[in-house]
Amino acid sequence: MTISNAPEASGAKTQGALESALAEFDHAADQLALSPDIRAVLRLPKREWTVNFPVTMDDGHVRVFTGYRVQHNVSRGPAKGGIRFHPATDLDEVRALAMWMTWKCALVNVPFGGAKGGVTVDPRKLSANELQHVTRRFATELQGVIGPEVDIPAPDVGTNAQTMAWIMDTVSMHAGYTVPGVVTGKPVSVGGSEGRADATGMGVMFTAQRALREAGIDMAGASVAVQGFGNVGEAAARLIHKRGGRLVAITDVGGGVANPGGLDPAKLSAHLRETGSIAGAPGTTPIDNETLLALDVDLLVLAALEGQITAANAGAVRAKVIAEGANGPVTPNADPILADHGVVTVPDILCNSGGVIVSYFEWVQNLQSFAWPAAQVADRLEHIIGGAYDEVAAVRARDGIGARLAAHVIAIGRVAEATEIRGLYP
Ligand code: GLU
Repeated sequence: MTISNAPEASGAKTQGALESALAEFDHAADQLALSPDIRAVLRLPKREWTVNFPVTMDDGHVRVFTGYRVQHNVSRGPAKGGIRFHPATDLDEVRALAMWMTWKCALVNVPFGGAKGGVTVDPRKLSANELQHVTRRFATELQGVIGPEVDIPAPDVGTNAQTMAWIMDTVSMHAGYTVPGVVTGKPVSVGGSEGRADATGMGVMFTAQRALREAGIDMAGASVAVQGFGNVGEAAARLIHKRGGRLVAITDVGGGVANPGGLDPAKLSAHLRETGSIAGAPGTTPIDNETLLALDVDLLVLAALEGQITAANAGAVRAKVIAEGANGPVTPNADPILADHGVVTVPDILCNSGGVIVSYFEWVQNLQSFAWPAAQVADRLEHIIGGAYDEVAAVRARDGIGARLAAHVIAIGRVAEATEIRGLYP
């Protein structure tokens, strides 16, 4: 049986992202008893750009692409957040993702606001040359919008370190000198940070381990299912496997693999490099997403896209702990159903914050023209994300609320305070 990730194939994944982000905001704003004035400010993005730009394709014809950059809030520092290349990306999705970045940066207390960007394109359908031209032209359209002091992009779905190198080079060519701090997630050879490539997956592993521990489960020996085998899912699976977790099922955009005795992520990566998907890897049986999401496992890592667990399928989830490696993989109306079933969720703005935490380290290193060793990056990452986990746990206990609401209460409280203290100008 072969499968495709239904939301990618149908293009339905954007539905509800903004609705979800706003519902989460309203819930936390009520809990915080925020004034109507501050709610009005934080509910809307500060600035948004839509750009339509032409690129000459390999066959000589011109194709016009549409891209977005949304800066949701900059009260706590420059705007920060990734750029995604995905066929279903639209302005509302980017707005939601930008808002989540504001809360994520505030929750882990790095001095950034929130932003997100996207180009509506399937990067797998472009040649390397076309991809480079799309990236460089989009970066050119964002001239003056992005910069080390204003707005710092990073990789997200469909983009990677190479994409960031092209953006950095394009901005640098326009400036006339090298501007490493304009993006994070660059290759180490051009100012990227050691540990950035694995950072999101490492943060997922650290936070999942803590949540499992709270549930009385040791990661060594825990059964684990992973949805997504991209930058986040692959690293999370590899690092969880390294700590003794038993990977029983993994899906990616091309299909899924299962083995109750445990999958070897290195072998899956090799198969992915050879064939473009983990599907059909030797020694595995096929599995589809729907089945994976309903597996009776200790840990379910969601590392694909938003809107995967909804009110429609939440009742079927049998995992003890869900780790949200993706942004928005569980919709707000699924949360109470999961809670009723005793499923513990590590919310996205906490669980996947390892990426932006190490992006912050990269930006600091770039501004100081200094490089930290990998062990220092990993130690500081664990310290910050572990501290944020403990803060969320304390608010959960203090207010008797779930982890998602607790995380949003902390984050939105910080952003509201910064916005109010700065005041309105003029
Ligand atoms: N795209 C990642 C996220 O959603 C990383 C953002 C960053 O490092 O700026 O958190």
